[in-house]
Amino acid sequence: METKILPVDSVSLKLARDIITEGGAVAFPTETVYGLGANAFSEEAVKNIFSIKGRPNDNPLIVHVHSDYDISTLVSYVPDYAKKLAKKFLPGPLTLVYKSCNKVAKAVSCGLDTLAVRIPSHEGAQRFLRYVDMPIAAPSANISKHVSPVSAEHVYTDLNGRVGLILDGGRCTGGIESTVLDCTGEVPVILRSGLVTRGMIADAVGACEVYKMREGEAARSPGMKYKHYSPDCKTMLFEDATEAVDEYFRQTANGVKTYIMCDGATARGLRVENILNLGDGAEEIAAQLYEKLREGERVAQLIIAVSPKQRDGVMVGVMNRLEKACRGQ
Ligand code: AMP
Ligand code: MG
Repeated sequence: METKILPVDSVSLKLARDIITEGGAVAFPTETVYGLGANAFSEEAVKNIFSIKGRPNDNPLIVHVHSDYDISTLVSYVPDYAKKLAKKFLPGPLTLVYKSCNKVAKAVSCGLDTLAVRIPSHEGAQRFLRYVDMPIAAPSANISKHVSPVSAEHVYTDLNGRVGLILDGGRCTGGIESTVLDCTGEVPVILRSGLVTRGMIADAVGACEVYKMREGEAARSPGMKYKHYSPDCKTMLFEDATEAVDEYFRQTANGVKTYIMCDGATARGLRVENILNLGDGAEEIAAQLYEKLREGERVAQLIIAVSPKQRDGVMVGVMNRLEKACRGQ
C-alpha cells in the first residue's frame, strides 16, 4: 500500500473520510502525539488498528470526537465532576473514562464495560473529526512498544506501507500522551499521567487520586502494564549526572556510539560531545522527549538518560515515559 502524507485540507479530508468509511485507518495529528484512527462503530476497522500496530488485544483504545459531538450517545453516565473537568480542560490533552453504553465496537474497550473518550484541541484533529463526524478509535500511530510519533515523518517511519494516509499537522506541541482519568467512581482517578496534572484536576474539582496497581489485581488501565515508548537502541537511566558521564566515557572508549539525554541545566554543565538536550522546564521537556528518543535511535547505539531533577506536575508523566522507555535494558 502506498502511504501518502498530505497537509490537512479539503482534498486530504475527503480522502480521509473515504478511507474511514471503507473501514480503513488514517493517521492524524493531535496536540499530544499522532493518532491512528478508524471508525469506532466498526468491529473490523478497529481490529485492523490492532493488527497494523501489532498492539496486544487487551490494551483498549481511546475514542476521539470533535468538540460538538454528543458524548451522551456513547456513555451511560457522566458525573458532575467530569462535566466540570470537561468545561475546564476540553478540548485538550485529557481523556475521560466513563461507563460505556456499548454503542461502539467491542474491540475498542477490549471487553471492559467502560469507554475512554478524548476531545483533542489540535485544529487538524478537530477538522478531521468534524469531517468524518463519527467517533474515531485511535491509539498512537506507532508500531506497538516503539516511541510515540510527534511528527508525520515519525508516523511514516513506523507505518509506511501499512496505512494509506497520514494527515500532516506539523510537530505536536504537547509531546506526551493525554492524561487518562477514570470518571466511573466517586472521585476521579488518574490511570495515566500527562499534561493535565493531578494538581490541576484537584484544584478544579476538589479531589483526585492516582491509581496504583496492586499485586494480583487486574489492571484498570491495561495499557500501563506494557513496555512502551522504547527507542530501537540500548538505553540506560541514571539519577546522577556524574555517574552517567563516567558510563558515557566507559562506553565511548569501548567504541559504543553513546549519547547523553538530559535537561538543559544538566547539559550546560557537561563536558561531553554527544548530547540530546531536552530543554528547560517541564512543558518543554515533555514536548522534546519523543523527538529526542527518536533522534537518539537514529544516531546512537546507546542513550544514557539522566533523570531531570524536577519531579512534580507534568514531570510525573515525563518520568513515567522515561522509565518505561529505559525499562529492562
Ligand atoms: P494509547 O492509545 O496507545 O495512547 O493508549 C491508550 C491508553 O488508554 C492505554 O493506557 C489504555 O490502557 C487506556 N485506556 C483506553 N481505554 C480505557 C478504558 N476503557 N479504561 C481504562 N483505560 C483505558
Ligand atoms: Mg501508544
